[in-house]
Amino acid sequence: MALIFCPDCGKEVSDSANNCPNCAYPLSKLKNQTPAYTPIYQNNQLVIAGYIAVFLSFFIFPIFFMIIGIVLGIINLTKGVTGHGILQIVLSLIFGILGTFLGILSILF
Ligand SMILES: [Zn+2]
Repeated sequence: MALIFCPDCGKEVSDSANNCPNCAYPLSKLKNQTPAYTPIYQNNQLVIAGYIAVFLSFFIFPIFFMIIGIVLGIINLTKGVTGHGILQIVLSLIFGILGTFLGILSILF
């Protein structure tokens, strides 16, 4: 028996309970969905697309690809790929700003 967080109200509930004691959310339905639900593999293409945008932002059109990288990062975050999502948002910002500076420097010198 383990404690899980109710997806509806966020309270800690036993995973053996069929309904959340706080808000009556049907936890048994959630358990049945779990084996077929593999968010990381389903969102693999989005994660890869996010990293491509992040790396492109360093070399070409930094602001354009920085925005794409941040948007894809946010999408990945909302889809449950939290680690990749946060990393892509942070990397997009760093590479976008660095790429912009390098672009300005290459124009000036
Ligand atoms: Zn609940």
